[in-house]
Amino acid sequence: MEKLSVNRQRLQSDIEALAEIGRSEDYGIYRMAFSEADMQGRAWFKNKAEEVGLDFYQDGAANLHARYQWDDKRPSVMMGSHIDTVPAAGHLDGALGVIVALECLRCIKESNLNIDYPLEAVAFSDEEGRFGGMLGSQAITGMLSPEKIIKASDLNGVSLIDAMKNVGLDAMDALHARRNPESIHAYLELHIEQGPMLDDMEISIGNVDAIAGLFKWDVTLTGTPNHAGTTPMDMRKDAFMGLSEFASQLQRILDENGSPRSVATIGRVEISPGAANVIPGKVEFSLEARDTDPSVLDDLANAFRKSLSAIARKHELMFEFRVLSEITPVKSDPGIVESIENVCKSLRVPFLQMASGAAHDAQMLAKITRAGMIFVPSKDGRSHSIAEWTDMDDIEKGANVALNTMYRIAGGQL
Ligand SMILES: [Zn+2]
Repeated sequence: MEKLSVNRQRLQSDIEALAEIGRSEDYGIYRMAFSEADMQGRAWFKNKAEEVGLDFYQDGAANLHARYQWDDKRPSVMMGSHIDTVPAAGHLDGALGVIVALECLRCIKESNLNIDYPLEAVAFSDEEGRFGGMLGSQAITGMLSPEKIIKASDLNGVSLIDAMKNVGLDAMDALHARRNPESIHAYLELHIEQGPMLDDMEISIGNVDAIAGLFKWDVTLTGTPNHAGTTPMDMRKDAFMGLSEFASQLQRILDENGSPRSVATIGRVEISPGAANVIPGKVEFSLEARDTDPSVLDDLANAFRKSLSAIARKHELMFEFRVLSEITPVKSDPGIVESIENVCKSLRVPFLQMASGAAHDAQMLAKITRAGMIFVPSKDGRSHSIAEWTDMDDIEKGANVALNTMYRIAGGQL
């Protein structure tokens, strides 16, 4: 099978051009969904697609599709990501995946090679969550409802409906963006790792076999607030002592009940009443755990519950928890994982089979089609920051793996 190569210079100049859109004086990029900068980024993408003779289509959720050999009959091989950003973002999260997808279509078009399936490069709307996140990929997979659209608003209270209206779009049209699963043959996404593993191991490519799921709890331990001077240590019901004992057991609980991929975090703690001379009567904290295996997540949830109950009994505290969110882990398609592996071997590019700890549009697409992801290293694991950086050599390798995987799949090898 023919080996294709991306045009490194074109890729680099596209990355640089898109990075200028929404860039502020602090060097951070502010391309939040449906902001002026996001709209400029969208116009840039449309222009790039049309410039090389690709069809351009915008669906009801304002997802942008560049298409090659589209015929409305055969299912497509889709590659995508997002061009919206968090505030003060780096230049690669999402943007790189969209640019690489566009480059793959350009290269296959230029090569004039035969393919069995049409190709799509997609920029999904609001992946980063100004209005909750993954709006576009949820729309395509049929996970939106009118209620969800009406209720969605950003941190400043601007509703999704108003934000879209403001740029000439009707949010309710997102309900029409739903795709028949049979219209998509496979989905690929290239993304920066946003974690330290590839950079640390000096490996250019991550072949993502699963995207971690998670549960997020709000936990409360209640004891008795009392005088810090007059209450003897053995007569206290100190809620913070309960939390600190639990926190010190986190690693052990993961070792005994989790997998090597398990992580858990207590990211927010509120102690009340919160005075130096009062014994903490109540602590409220967040507990978040992630893994790629749903049964491991169940085991962890049980182990956390047991440990917290035991600690509460020991310190004479009341233990309550509320599940704030639960996201099921998603497995990549084994056929796509194998395709990526074969391409890496044929290009002689070392790769690491790994999980994604962060959520991506691929997670949504995996609900309706075969999906897989390719990671490239993030320098020092930094992301959602101007420190975000990937070496151009790694980007080129990743783009070539994406290109050849897309070409093989579109040529019927899946
Ligand atoms: Zn992203």
